[in-house]
Amino acid sequence: MTHRPSPWQLAVVPYTLELRQRFTLANSSRTTTPTLLVALRRDGICGYGEAAMPPYLGETQAGAAAFLTSLDLRSFDDPFATAALLAAVDRHAPGQPAAKAAFDLALHDWLGKRLGQPWHRLLGLDRATTPPTSYTIGIHPPDVARELAAAMHGRFRSFKIKLGGPTDRAMVEAIRAATDTPLRVDVNQGWIDREAALREVEWLAARGVQFVEQPMPKERLDDLAWLTRHSPLPILADEGCQRLADLRRIPGVYHGIVVKLMKATGLREARTMLETARALGLSTMLGCMTETSCAIAAATQLAPLADWVDLDGALLVANDPFVGPVLQDGVVAATDGPGIGAAPVADLFAG
Ligand code: MG
Repeated sequence: MTHRPSPWQLAVVPYTLELRQRFTLANSSRTTTPTLLVALRRDGICGYGEAAMPPYLGETQAGAAAFLTSLDLRSFDDPFATAALLAAVDRHAPGQPAAKAAFDLALHDWLGKRLGQPWHRLLGLDRATTPPTSYTIGIHPPDVARELAAAMHGRFRSFKIKLGGPTDRAMVEAIRAATDTPLRVDVNQGWIDREAALREVEWLAARGVQFVEQPMPKERLDDLAWLTRHSPLPILADEGCQRLADLRRIPGVYHGIVVKLMKATGLREARTMLETARALGLSTMLGCMTETSCAIAAATQLAPLADWVDLDGALLVANDPFVGPVLQDGVVAATDGPGIGAAPVADLFAG
């Protein structure tokens, strides 16, 4: 058998995102997020992708780089055979959803550039219907949370606050002292007792909260189902819903799901998840990790499919190496640019 060269060239560059604020959740705290930037080249066109990997999820820059550089793309002559191509990438190794997302994003970017169209247009979506994004406030001492909320008041139409710490109610009251902006709450599995969780949700419902994300550990399906039955607010699965197949377990346990490109292995499966969830009568939020404007730009292409949007990831980063969609009137909407609509600020892939 002759050894033919691949029509594709793939380059990967590890990059460390510096966060503007220490980011503290119920179970972790950090000031940086490792990411892996990807360039997929063929026929003079370059598509960009990214694998953003908050450490608590278990993927690493080295692991993602090894996964991506060991892909054998020689048999994929037709760049439009995306179903077969992405299925082969998924089969290449178990897990590693962020690494798989990086390839999916780069391939979509390449195809959109080849066609000269942004993906929201190829999907027939109206970006003018993009819901406003929330701005995330991590777990902070109440006075710090109040300052952050006051500083961001007017720029965003909702704040997503992280609870599950020792001072939840004091933090909510401090934020409420600074702004009447609607709130969303993410507990990151931080509450253990379902009766206590229901009391917290009822207390939050009286304070302008729109929904509660992952209030209890994802394994506690019976408790979550009980809480969902009794809750005055929608209860959403984030940690409890990673990929499409997880949707089978959601109805009756949660009111809805949080879809993220880095969990869902990219745009292709994330889009299916958003559409399937809606068909099942579930609410949807399109969220993100702390990530560059590359992955955020990709997510904005799907944003019109979601009920709620939380795409502030690049706004939390001090050294964003991509230019992409910007915040306007509280909305981060897709750009006119072809593909995913992001460009590197410098030649990240030189040398
Ligand atoms: Mg979450």
